[in-house]
Amino acid sequence: FVPHSLQAKMSRPVQARRLEGVDKNIWVEFVKLAATYSKVNLGQGFPDFPAPDFLTEAFTRALGGGNHMLHQYTRAFGHPPLVKVLAQFFEKLLGRDLDPMTNVMVTVGAYQALFCCFQALVDEGDEVIIIEPFFDCYEPMVKMAGGIPVFIPLRPNPPKDGKLMSSADWQLDPAELASKFSERTKAIVLNSPNNPLGKVFSRGELGLIAELCVKHDVLCISDEVYEWLVYDGRQHIRIASLQGMWDRTVIIGSAGKTFSATGWKVGWVVGPDRLLQHLRTVHQNSVYHCATIAQEAVAQGFQRELMLYGKPESYFVQLPKELQQKRDWLVQSLDAVGMKPIIPEGTYFLVADISQFKSDVPDVPSSDEPYDYRFAKWMVKNKGLAAIPLSAFYSQAHKNNYTNFIRFCFAKEEATLKAANDILQKWKQEKTS
Ligand code: PMP
Repeated sequence: FVPHSLQAKMSRPVQARRLEGVDKNIWVEFVKLAATYSKVNLGQGFPDFPAPDFLTEAFTRALGGGNHMLHQYTRAFGHPPLVKVLAQFFEKLLGRDLDPMTNVMVTVGAYQALFCCFQALVDEGDEVIIIEPFFDCYEPMVKMAGGIPVFIPLRPNPPKDGKLMSSADWQLDPAELASKFSERTKAIVLNSPNNPLGKVFSRGELGLIAELCVKHDVLCISDEVYEWLVYDGRQHIRIASLQGMWDRTVIIGSAGKTFSATGWKVGWVVGPDRLLQHLRTVHQNSVYHCATIAQEAVAQGFQRELMLYGKPESYFVQLPKELQQKRDWLVQSLDAVGMKPIIPEGTYFLVADISQFKSDVPDVPSSDEPYDYRFAKWMVKNKGLAAIPLSAFYSQAHKNNYTNFIRFCFAKEEATLKAANDILQKWKQEKTS
């Protein structure tokens, strides 16, 4: 007789094959490091300033306003007031009629929107083109769907006049891009404005991508979570508004980024029903539903923004104005100490060149860990300043070409940016004294 307790130990492999090679996650590691060591956290992308009053007030009203049904389930594919106002808003932005019930779906942040896209649209063996550097989850999500990521890097062209580089100086090589498309290509992931570089793709660049999508009958998963965060009078252009693209594009957005409330995890997709119907299948068979109260408050936020559209009081006008100023402060701080910033045209991220600080953190050529990882870890432990290594946003094959940069988030209070400046100044003095 063998007691059950002795038989209970399992010997068979428990991990599903689809998880092979996707177990590491930069955020899990660096969020923990920042929590343990950082005095100033410019790492993970979230604001440390409050969400706007009109949004938090809407949440409070929804919570205690007498409609107890807001504590219950709502419609699976999006709370009706939210999908309605999103449809109205995107009708304006895209210049086409939208059906709130079939052209919009609410998700648990843009993250789940991405997951739905890959699960619903990518089959075993399908190729998905990803432009590097990229928001890191695209690669494991494509792989978990059985797809094959195909990478194409933005190539830096440093300005010759000695000026600081801009994110616009990172460009796709048109011939290289064309060479990535084939009959195996199912989709391309576009992220404009781009995390981590802050690049805002120009009409010409988007036109080139659109032309190739149409030519090869390829879908476009367009991650536009930073759509309102563009600077210096630039314009965010929606690829779905280009000829032939609506029918093959899923637009992804995030209330977290739009309203500076990343913890709410409300996101959405906008697109043609022929694509969204399959995303709904994934959604109804996975999370099914997102928190009703958060959706209600975001709906009210959008109603306000619809009313104030384009006016100076609009949050979508005010936020980029404030962030542009913060960007300029951080650019100045970094430039002053020789950590050369690449000026972002959009997003709340900034990539900086650490070459001149390398002597503080010696290279270990035999190490498996890319240099920028070791640099970022050393910096948070020794200087209390948290940032993210740029090579985390590259595929394994290309990582080693981009280990001289780290990414900072500047969606921070003035005091936080000042504290970061103090750390950098002191560090620079220690180096020169
Ligand atoms: N896409 C990009 C490009 C992002 O930077 C992020 C968040 N950092 C997301 C999607 C996920 O957004 P959410 O927090 O709404 O899930």
